[in-house]
Amino acid sequence: MRQITRDAEDWRRLAQHALAISDRFFRSLPARPVAAQYDPHASIGPLPERGDGAARALETFEKAILPFLSGSVGSRYLAYVTGGVTPAALLGDWLVGTVDQDVGSPGDSIATRMTVETIRWLLELFDLPSHDYDGVLTTGATAANLLALLAAREWASGQQGFSVAESGLALLPRFEILSASAHITFVKMLAVAGHGWQAITPVAMQPDSQAMDLRDLEQKLKGGGAAPKMVVASAGTVTTTDFDDLTAIAGLCRRHNAWLHVDAAFGIYARCTPQLRSLADGLELADSITGDAHKWLNVPYESGFFFTRHSACLETACAASAVYLESGGAEPEFLSRGIESSQRFRALPIWMTLAAYGRDGVASIVERCCRMAGLLAQWIVRSERFDLLCPVRLNVVCFRLLPRNGEDNDTVNDAFLARLNQTGLTRMTPGSVKGVRGVRAAFCNWRTEEGDIETITLALQNAA
Ligand SMILES: *Cc1c(COP(=O)(O)O)cnc(C)c1O
Repeated sequence: MRQITRDAEDWRRLAQHALAISDRFFRSLPARPVAAQYDPHASIGPLPERGDGAARALETFEKAILPFLSGSVGSRYLAYVTGGVTPAALLGDWLVGTVDQDVGSPGDSIATRMTVETIRWLLELFDLPSHDYDGVLTTGATAANLLALLAAREWASGQQGFSVAESGLALLPRFEILSASAHITFVKMLAVAGHGWQAITPVAMQPDSQAMDLRDLEQKLKGGGAAPKMVVASAGTVTTTDFDDLTAIAGLCRRHNAWLHVDAAFGIYARCTPQLRSLADGLELADSITGDAHKWLNVPYESGFFFTRHSACLETACAASAVYLESGGAEPEFLSRGIESSQRFRALPIWMTLAAYGRDGVASIVERCCRMAGLLAQWIVRSERFDLLCPVRLNVVCFRLLPRNGEDNDTVNDAFLARLNQTGLTRMTPGSVKGVRGVRAAFCNWRTEEGDIETITLALQNAA
């Protein structure tokens, strides 16, 4: 206890120490290896009986941990779909811990209200009708996809006169879930929610994209008769960034009694800029929408959101009622709209970045990332050693190193990717389009600029 009190008294100096580490880290980003090099069996030693205080812990962190972290907030980290962190979002995130509010139960502070308001800002940012949608902030798109499934099946059971939340899944007759390119996290959530990975009825894709073949979807919807169904559409698939024709799919869903869920984890940001907006037309017709703030909004992990037109279904699916939780207030009970009962003040970093940079700031990140993807794509098209695996529509570039006579494409590209990441100049992950393996680079960070593309192409040449 004495150590805690001493640290609390010494707060300003400790915070300055942490600030200095943070500052050194940001300054080191251009020079440090982008992909972390570390010992996967490293130990942090035994649990101390008595601690040494926060200053020593900070020193140990900077010396023994920080050097082995990846440069994922830097401008040349292009693995997965990894957002950077804006200065305002980072400050917001730090203040979340400072004030440590619980937003789950309303009536405790204005933090719950702020969450409602921040959700409204997000809806406005994406040009979605804010009077039609309610939402909740989540740990990410995976959690949002689970909420979509829970809400949709609650809607389905409601049509049959009962509630899955109350009576369980056994009573629910076959609840058909149709999708062409559901994200792997939706498939994972099918298992978590008790449906199983195989619960998806696959819909055919269009010949040159991962988007749904509408005729096949219509046929399969008709086959299910009047029973309630769920269609899981994509606004931005992870590898080829394909968008489903949401307007047409919404029409089919209405006609055939299906809940339309759109996984728009990063594709939703297409709606922030006029050049890209039409890609995600029709999103405003969805029954539920998944999005991530820790990707293109450049808010620190873990930050996602879920929007739905049927918040009553969500609130039944996630209901938690107990006398000690009762509030009776005018604010929503976020503990009944999500998985976690205690919820950190997730709205604050989102609100901070939107307050600091506005709609324009978000649009400029999105536009710049797409421009950078375009520059890399142009270079690849011009080069003799590489080719694109699919056209670049948004912020992702999938390409491969061309195998030389007799070489196996996949082996060549896996080895190439390993060498590329060892250069320390960039980090990319594998991508596969129509069974052809290659490398995938996703631009999602406000920091990335023209000079980075030069460094990245140099790394590509060297690794080739
Ligand atoms: C990233 C992503 C997810 C999973 O998101 P997490 O934030 O990692 O949970 C789901 N769907 C799509 C389309 C994604 O891009």
